[in-house]
Amino acid sequence: MDTHVAAAARSRAALAGKTAIVTGSTSGIGLGVAKALAAAGANVMLNGLAAAADAERARAELAATFGIGAGYDAADMTRPEAIRALVARTEREFGAVDILVNNAGIQHVAPVEDFPDEKWDAILAINLSAAFHAIKAALPGMKARGFGRIVNIASAHGLVASPFKAAYVAAKHGVVGLTKVVALEVAEIGGAEGGITANAICPGYVWTPLVEKQIEDQAKSHGLPRERVVREVLLARQPNKRFATVEEIGALTVFLCGEAAASITGAALPVEGGWTAQ
Ligand code: NAD
Repeated sequence: MDTHVAAAARSRAALAGKTAIVTGSTSGIGLGVAKALAAAGANVMLNGLAAAADAERARAELAATFGIGAGYDAADMTRPEAIRALVARTEREFGAVDILVNNAGIQHVAPVEDFPDEKWDAILAINLSAAFHAIKAALPGMKARGFGRIVNIASAHGLVASPFKAAYVAAKHGVVGLTKVVALEVAEIGGAEGGITANAICPGYVWTPLVEKQIEDQAKSHGLPRERVVREVLLARQPNKRFATVEEIGALTVFLCGEAAASITGAALPVEGGWTAQ
C-alpha cells in the first residue's frame, strides 16, 4: 500500500482502544475536542454542566456517529472528590484513562481592586486546581500502563496578560507551569509503550457560541457593525484577524495524543494567529 494511504488509514484509527476524559465537553472547545478524539477512535467520557437530557443527547450522538464508547459524568470541577470519582468511574467503565484533556474553564472580567473574591476562587478552582486533581488521580493508572497523554487547554493568557483578567491570567499561567512540572516528573516512564506526555494548548480567540454571543453584545454596546467588532475589539491583538476553530484545537489534541508526538512534552503550543509573537 502507498505509504501515505497506509499512514492515513493508521491515523483514522490512531486512538482506537484508547479512552479519553474531556472535562467541560458539553459545549465549545471541549465538545470539539471530544468529537475529534472520537473520530480518531477513542472512547470518550464527557463532562460539564448541562441539563441531563442535553448531556444524554450529546453522549448518544457521539457514540452513534463515531461507533465508540461514550459516557457522561456531571462532576463539578470545583469539587476534588467529584473529580477523583470521575477518573475512578472512567477507569471502571472503560478500563483506563489513557488521555486526559483538562478543558473546563470560566472567565470573569474586572479590575483587580474590584475583582470579587468568589470569582477569583471559582476561576482558580475550575481553570487550575481541577487540572491538578484530575492529573493526580489519572497518573497512577497511566504509569502502570506506561502510556498517557495529558492535554491542558490553557490560553494565550497562559503566556501573556491582558488587563482586567487577573484570575484567568493567573490560572492559565499556572496551568502552563503545572504542565511543565508534570512533563518532567513522568518524562522517563514507559517509553516502549509510548510514554506519558503533558502539554498545554494556548488558543487565542476560538469561535464558539460564547464568542458569537460576545460579538453580538459588543456590537450592540459599541454601536459598531459586526466586522469592526471582530477586527478592532475581539481580535485586536490577534494579528491574523481570524478566529481559530474548535476543529483546529481538536486536530492538535489528536496529534498530541498520537505516536508522532511522543517527543513533544512540557510544551505550551500557541494557536493564536501570532498574538504572542508580538
Ligand atoms: P464554554 O463555556 O463553551 O465551555 C466551558 C465548558 O466548561 C462547558 O462544558 C461548561 O459546562 C464547563 N464547565 C464550566 N464550569 C464547570 C464546572 N464547575 N464543572 C464542570 N464543568 C464546568 O467555553 P470554551 O470557550 O469552549 O472554553 C473551553 C476552554 O478553553 C476553557 O478552559 C477556556 O479558558 C479555554 N479557552 C477558550 C478560548 C475561546 O476563545 N473560546 C480561548 C482560549 C482558551
